Amino acid sequence: MRWSDFPKWGKWAADWAANYHATLRDRPVRAQTKPGEIAAQLPASPPDAPQPIEDILADFERIVMPGMTHWQHPRFFAYFPSNASPAAVLADNLIAATSAQCMLWQTSPAATEMETRMMDWLRQALGLPQGFHGVIQDSASSATLAAVLTMRERALNWDGNKSGLPSQKPLRIYASAEVHTSIDRAIWIAGIGEANLVRIPTTGPLRSMDPVALKAAIEADRAAGLLPAGLIACTGGTGTGACDDIAAVLDVAEEFNLYTHVDAAWAGSAMICPEFRDLWQGVDRADSVVLNPHKWLGTQFDLSAHFVRSPEDLTRTLAIQPEYLKTHGADGIINYSEWSVPLGRRFRALKLWFLLRAYGLDGLRNMIRNHVTWSQALAEKFRAHPDFEIVTDPVLSLFTFRFAPQGADNLDDLNLSLVNALNNDGRIYITQTRTDGKLVIRFQAGQFDATEDDIATAYDVITEIAASL
Ligand SMILES: *Cc1c(COP(=O)(O)O)cnc(C)c1O
Repeated sequence: MRWSDFPKWGKWAADWAANYHATLRDRPVRAQTKPGEIAAQLPASPPDAPQPIEDILADFERIVMPGMTHWQHPRFFAYFPSNASPAAVLADNLIAATSAQCMLWQTSPAATEMETRMMDWLRQALGLPQGFHGVIQDSASSATLAAVLTMRERALNWDGNKSGLPSQKPLRIYASAEVHTSIDRAIWIAGIGEANLVRIPTTGPLRSMDPVALKAAIEADRAAGLLPAGLIACTGGTGTGACDDIAAVLDVAEEFNLYTHVDAAWAGSAMICPEFRDLWQGVDRADSVVLNPHKWLGTQFDLSAHFVRSPEDLTRTLAIQPEYLKTHGADGIINYSEWSVPLGRRFRALKLWFLLRAYGLDGLRNMIRNHVTWSQALAEKFRAHPDFEIVTDPVLSLFTFRFAPQGADNLDDLNLSLVNALNNDGRIYITQTRTDGKLVIRFQAGQFDATEDDIATAYDVITEIAASL
């Protein structure tokens, strides 16, 4: 296939995509394949001779599509959304066609300058103050790793990268048990060690880190000759949407000069609606904040927004300049590869530009408000049903519940059977989590094209299948 063939097949792909989205509701949300079924249809070795694109596309439909779980399905209620909007997908097509490697300003000035402007648009949309500077990371996991490395370097007076950690006092990082596993992995990779990730107990309905316990833990560590380095708080934890009281925990962190990072990977997108900002009140004082427009907003994976108050701390940790990366004669420019762990970077900001212009903040706010309203209404329907109980109240559009008919024992097994039966049925997709030792069902609504009717269907399907167990 040559570029001269591209118009024909590009049009085919555009038609295919529109048709795919138009018929999504007819497909089972979660792939209904067994392990190994797809691999068995793929030859063990690559072809020597070129094959016609017609054959490849036919196999794509025949072999690949049955093995897809449809993340853009309007009745995908599992995990968190991973929304693609048509405008951002269009931008991604243009990005792929140009495929620039945007590591330095001079390797595509438009990408760098667009990124600076788009991150500032997003900052304003979220109500973050002017002192924050944004960079697009590939994932929240990468942003958190960059923040943990910055915590480490700052606490070690910028000597960790140079001398390594063996001669240093053990560093200590504080977080609750509600934070995402990307935090554990960042601590592993940064060489700090899981034993030095101190879990602070939580209190209250939002499961916030207890600031009194936090302070006591830091003081005990100091007295023991350890080195408190940073705090990681969450707004909208993955399991049940836990939210730390950011203002209260930052008060403690500031007293001990800790570097602070807020993980709002999912919930952060909702902060374009001013009425939800109470959930992260105090965030303007954090050193680092991450949220994923690739989750709820519609810039499809990957586009993670990382805001920091001191880009100098970040680049002091991550920048490295061999001669081949120097951009002589370009003063006052930003090289975003110095703000992240990977060197190479795609032109992701274009997706945000297309998204924000095509839907406007009003369109996106409206989408998020609908998801929250519809989810909360669904939670109330389950609360009113005698055979169901709400386990954790909605945080935005996320809540957990259980099927608990009178006299039933072993509710963990019963609810796991319900989850499996629902996902085998295929009309909706939902997942489980564990909270306070109990297996519970997790519901979130957040798909770009979901309607009130899709959420109502979830109630009908769940009550119907539960009654049949
Ligand atoms: C999804 C999620 C992450 C991980 O996001 P990636 O972009 O996939 O790395 C981290 N933290 C929270 C709270 C999340 O919901």
